Amino acid sequence: MKKIDYLIVGQGIAGSTLAHSLLQEGKSVMVVDEDKDSTSSKIAAGLCNPVVFKRLTKSWMIDKVLEYAKEYYRHQEQLLGDQYYFDLPIYKLFANEKEQKFWLQKCNDPEMIDWLSSEIEYPFDSNLIQYPFGAAHVQNSGYLNTENWLAGFKNYLIEKQYYLASKFNYNEVNIEEDSISWNTYRANKVIFCEGYNTINNPYFNWLPFKLTKGEVLTVNFENLNMQAAINKGVFVLPHDGNYKLGATYDWDKLDEEITEEARINLLNRTEKFLSDEIVVVSQKAGIRPTVIDRRPLIGVHPDNSNLLVFNGLGTKGVMLAPYFANRLVEFLLHNEPLPDEVNISRFLGKDI
Ligand SMILES: Cc1cc2nc3c(=O)[nH]c(=O)nc-3n(C[C@H](O)[C@H](O)[C@H](O)COP(=O)(O)OP(=O)(O)OC[C@H]3O[C@@H](n4cnc5c(N)ncnc54)[C@H](O)[C@@H]3O)c2cc1C
Repeated sequence: MKKIDYLIVGQGIAGSTLAHSLLQEGKSVMVVDEDKDSTSSKIAAGLCNPVVFKRLTKSWMIDKVLEYAKEYYRHQEQLLGDQYYFDLPIYKLFANEKEQKFWLQKCNDPEMIDWLSSEIEYPFDSNLIQYPFGAAHVQNSGYLNTENWLAGFKNYLIEKQYYLASKFNYNEVNIEEDSISWNTYRANKVIFCEGYNTINNPYFNWLPFKLTKGEVLTVNFENLNMQAAINKGVFVLPHDGNYKLGATYDWDKLDEEITEEARINLLNRTEKFLSDEIVVVSQKAGIRPTVIDRRPLIGVHPDNSNLLVFNGLGTKGVMLAPYFANRLVEFLLHNEPLPDEVNISRFLGKDI
């Protein structure tokens, strides 16, 4: 049996940030992933949007998590020798005068000064994009090319022999008092970073997920050439020479199948304000690990302190994961308490 400190199940955004944070503290890890083509992390648009567009408020904990995330991805870029995180303005196209006024009003809110530009702009070719009420952009926004980063980090883990492509079958695990064995590994702890698949995990299937299926299109435009993301009910985001259009939200049909309904929906919503030839390159579907109270799910199993979970990153994994991976590591290695808001103990009514 190979002895390791932590067995991490899942190499999505959660498992990757956690594995890296533990390695940085000198801990040994083995990351197990069943290596599916399409996961929430792989297909995510990767946007880091500090603003909630509906209400024009700050995204939860943005003052703490965003700078932390950017620094984290810069670190990853140095480690892996490639660029994955890009600063990118996100423009809101105003649908009417009322929306424009609301934005300008919000610009005077001291809470929003760092995040909303107060300038009404017309930066796009109006033959292609119809936006008679102008646009304004979010400041300090960006995006992570999640697919390339996860592939880069996976290669790094493989090189170091910290990665195993395999499904983790729960019935193959042997739980002892002070360690856990699975396959040829004996670990001090297992940390489940399985995204939505945790609903099938017998140790943590009681967590109150409220999962959301999402679909995105990768498209090409005949004429449009844009160095920014735009939002008008749907996102259009430059991506690897193409564009991503997204995303749909479906709380009922929770599978990973792409649908014609979603493709038509996204194209229709785009064609309402964008008149250019659109060629669909690909379509992907995934399930976001969204939670009933919209907060991450982090912590220790109530009956076995060797089993942990790092999950519930919802619609904002890119921004939240680095900071909360670090909080989990601080908890594990330095006894720093986990914030109550994210600790899974909130669903048990007791401290664990
Ligand atoms: C359409 C769409 C668009 C999105 N856009 C954005 C965006 O713009 N910005 C943003 O921040 N977030 C976005 N998200 C959300 C983001 O993708 C999630 O917050 C994040 O990916 C969750 O990461 P995770 O690692 O927890 O889960 P996952 O990505 O689901 O990763 C879980 C991993 O665990 C593996 N696994 C699971 N069970 C097992 C097992 N038993 N054995 C072995 N391996 C296992 C899976 O193969 C997978 O690799 C989007 C999501 C979707 C679906």
